[in-house]
Amino acid sequence: MPTTENALTVIEPANERVLAEVAQTDASGAAEAIGRAVAAYPAWRAVEPRDRSLLLTRVSSLIEERLEDLAVLEARNAGKPIADARAEIGIAADTFRYYAGAPERLLGQTIPVPGGVDMTFREPLGAIGLITPWNFPLAIASWKIAPALAAGNTVVLKPAELTPLTALRLEEIVLEGGIPEGVFNVVVGPGRTVGEHLVTDPRVAKIAFTGSTAVGRRIGALAAESIKRVTLELGGKSASIIFADADLEAAAAAAPGAVFGNNGQDCCARSRILVERSAFDRFLALFGEATAKIRVGDPLDRESTMGPLISAAQRESVSSFLDGADVAYQGSAPSGPGFWFPPTILTPASTDDRAAREEIFGPIACVIPFEDEAEALRMANDTIYGLSGSIWTRDGARALRAARAMESGTLSINSNWSVRVQSPFGGFKQSGVGRELGPDALDYYTEVKNVYIAT
Ligand code: NDP
Repeated sequence: MPTTENALTVIEPANERVLAEVAQTDASGAAEAIGRAVAAYPAWRAVEPRDRSLLLTRVSSLIEERLEDLAVLEARNAGKPIADARAEIGIAADTFRYYAGAPERLLGQTIPVPGGVDMTFREPLGAIGLITPWNFPLAIASWKIAPALAAGNTVVLKPAELTPLTALRLEEIVLEGGIPEGVFNVVVGPGRTVGEHLVTDPRVAKIAFTGSTAVGRRIGALAAESIKRVTLELGGKSASIIFADADLEAAAAAAPGAVFGNNGQDCCARSRILVERSAFDRFLALFGEATAKIRVGDPLDRESTMGPLISAAQRESVSSFLDGADVAYQGSAPSGPGFWFPPTILTPASTDDRAAREEIFGPIACVIPFEDEAEALRMANDTIYGLSGSIWTRDGARALRAARAMESGTLSINSNWSVRVQSPFGGFKQSGVGRELGPDALDYYTEVKNVYIAT
């Protein structure tokens, strides 16, 4: 078991002070947690669907009861404004409530076949490994835990070392809600050891991962060895296409939230804003005005609308995108301590510019002009990623035409809203494999079994 000798120090990014010391483990601790999840699996999958549903509902209610405590913890640990943290904890509660409805609705089919009938069952997979990032710690973990448990699987979760605190609280809440020991386990430790052990241990039936495309690629390769099921939610470089006929005021007012929200540390960030040339100057001016309203500061100050970046390394990585860049606007941020970075708007010459190609994961937006619809779509699709995107226009036919043409898993028209608990979320191309949320997620936490009856 972990000891405090190998304690992990958790830092508060707004002031660089120690927020907590938590016990961390290594590969042997991961192996023990997998053992607990494997042992708990037969009894958990045998729990009547109605009872599994009630237990998940209770977890949802307990998260809601603790919302303020969890939100303050997340705001301090992940450096996000308290209002955003509250909304995210609310999403975690909603996700448990949504999937609480699933156990009694995992329906199969009957299929007429020669000489009899085939019927299908949706079976759980077994013990599942979850590896999650630091940008939306409890929300993203819940998107995986809730459907996994609803379908009758047991789980080992490895949260990011930078933000393990709400996952550890959730472990307590799940037990308090009455879910038996061993069904949900949290292991804190480095991705390279603890995470990779989850991926390579043959007792783990599936890995669900959210994080960088580089680590996702490695997980896919390692998981292939034991033919593990894998779902990956990876990076993005999403485009917002703004046509000249759009409500430019509305598009500009919504743009800061879509690219500077969560300090740009969002896989759905609309970090490439493509604007029809005739509207370019007007949009850029409106976007600059809207961005100037952002207040960067202490996450617990209700006036703050943007916090610090997650770490010094992240700030260094984000800063590197300013080298030689055309800066159209830059806001202000506290000088330190804390990993501060101001909201910044760049106007690169083309989508070939590094800042317009690579995922920055920080508060930097690129605004680039286009000539016509064909060029806008070519630019939008000219990326290895395909996670989300937006189309702003008053022409309904064009909006749908563009949405069908964009190589992206999650699109919004006249909106930048990407993620709803009720709808599938996931990426095309190197943004990932599989879908989370909505009814679709359950397909990725179950296997279809076909049983034939001779009649
Ligand atoms: P990573 O992909 O490295 O981390 C995500 C999770 O994977 C963490 O829990 C991490 O553990 C774990 N992990 C790391 N290496 C391995 C491994 N070899 N095997 C198994 N698990 C592993 O993201 P970073 O934190 O390094 O962020 C880097 C960049 O990734 C960001 O700048 C951004 O571009 C992208 N990113 C995308 C996210 C998204 O939402 N799609 C989320 C986070 C990052 P630990 O960190 O504890 O060691």
